Amino acid sequence: MCDARPSAPADAEARRAIAPVICYPVDTLPAAPMALYSAAREGLLLVDTVTAPARDAATFTVPAGHFCRIVSVDGPQVGDLNLWNANDLSERFFSGKTRALHGTHVTTGDRLWSNLPHLRPMATVTHDTLGWYGIDGYGGSVHDVIGTRCDPYTNNLLSGGQYHHCCHSNLTRALADHTGLPLDQAELHVHDVLNVFMCTGFTRDTGQYFMKASPVRPGDYFEFFAEIDLLGALSACPGGDCSSEHSSDTAACHRLEIQILKPASGALQGWQAPAANGYDRSHGR
Ligand SMILES: [Zn+2]
Repeated sequence: MCDARPSAPADAEARRAIAPVICYPVDTLPAAPMALYSAAREGLLLVDTVTAPARDAATFTVPAGHFCRIVSVDGPQVGDLNLWNANDLSERFFSGKTRALHGTHVTTGDRLWSNLPHLRPMATVTHDTLGWYGIDGYGGSVHDVIGTRCDPYTNNLLSGGQYHHCCHSNLTRALADHTGLPLDQAELHVHDVLNVFMCTGFTRDTGQYFMKASPVRPGDYFEFFAEIDLLGALSACPGGDCSSEHSSDTAACHRLEIQILKPASGALQGWQAPAANGYDRSHGR
């Protein structure tokens, strides 16, 4: 597969021993008003419920200033989440920069950032019943922003065949149904996901992406606050709890419930939607 490893220089150990520095310390990011969100959570009113059927996806909208919960209902199940600005599909969730800022997995207090040139918080994670999990002995954790979404193209390369219920296709059909766009155009808006409830990491010896059975149980939920008007799509992954395989009909799969919740009037006194990013976009010209 690859050439033999080149011989190490004499100072190899010294080079390896250099301590890492955090690429993006987040202490200078505008702080999320978590105390305000926490108080607003006390008086939430359920205004809409949407179901993502097993091995399929559903779209939902969350007005700015509302909360959204993704709830495990019937059994352990992983969900692949896409988010767009409801008024402009070109602004969408940026898993790569969210990962660079907050780490490989997200939990309460982390923000879900939009793509360039927008780069502003689309949502803030406000509650995570799996927040107890932490990082396990394999380096695994939940709610990752390292996976992409299972897709029929990778499946075709690895295994051959035409499987139509990968999260990529589920999200594509759901977005096409919501927007009226033809499938091939809707597909271009589908992007790298937040893997809600999925337990993943990288193997220590080979650095490969791994998954393991999700610790999620019925009643667990992942909750976020919409900083802007959001259009979301959630796919109940054909991998089920992702303990064995995805991209097939083999795994036991369950529906996921999406709840939209509205805070009591006045509960968000002083809150403002995030402004556009402050970079002037002149790029040195
Ligand atoms: Zn999937």
